[in-house]
Amino acid sequence: MHTDAATKLEFAVQMNCESCVKAVRAALQGVQGVHSVEVDLAHEQVLVESTLTSQEVQTLIESTGRHAVLKGMGTTGQDLGAAVAILDGAHSIKGVIRFLQISPEHCLIDGTVDGLEPGLHGLHVHELGDLTLGCLSCGEHFNPFKKQHGAPEDLERHVGDLGNILAGPDGRASFRLEDSQLKVWDIIGRSLVVSSGEDDLGKGGHPLSKETGNSGERLACGIIARSAGLFKNPKQICACDGVTLWEERARTVSGLKQKETKTPFANL
Ligand SMILES: [Zn+2]
Repeated sequence: MHTDAATKLEFAVQMNCESCVKAVRAALQGVQGVHSVEVDLAHEQVLVESTLTSQEVQTLIESTGRHAVLKGMGTTGQDLGAAVAILDGAHSIKGVIRFLQISPEHCLIDGTVDGLEPGLHGLHVHELGDLTLGCLSCGEHFNPFKKQHGAPEDLERHVGDLGNILAGPDGRASFRLEDSQLKVWDIIGRSLVVSSGEDDLGKGGHPLSKETGNSGERLACGIIARSAGLFKNPKQICACDGVTLWEERARTVSGLKQKETKTPFANL
């Protein structure tokens, strides 16, 4: 379900002068969904409280011509845990999805996936954090209570059922959800998978509707790992060479690049 809960986003942003600070402020202030903006020039840090997706806020900051790297996400209250999944898949699909437990009952999910066919795509937490055979070895939808597949708002659903994300004409799905069944501490070490097609939410009448939502092949996946909360990531970016998340990620996986999957995955 879409959420109006505000989050605080901590960005590292290349800034070396007061005019940079003014430009960043001007890009954010007054935008609907942005509640507050704090800019720390000395630490090259921008703290934004908003109800926008982290990608939307990053795009606003980068509209000033500066690189921004999201370093942490939190709330105004006590955060109970955070996790991140970096998705990789066939057809150059890439994504970053963050999970933030904002209360014992509510998990906020903020993410962006690029390279998708425009339209709806099923999004599910799967049982296993095993990418040995790509997305095929991730197991089934995370379902500790042995229920049938359903919609996020249904009581009868897999815990891992997050419904659909919508990719626009540019192939990007940028979303912000809140879920009452998913808990960050239950999903660390499992995986997140995006599907080729729309999840029918258990209501499609197909034999697979009650198992997978008949949402098609597994397009991209990633292991869900524990991540830093707000102000807990000490890593700095070089002031002379700010890198985007994608560039940083490419450096990290170079030499360890997963083999590309050429054949479509079975519809499981
Ligand atoms: Zn399911």
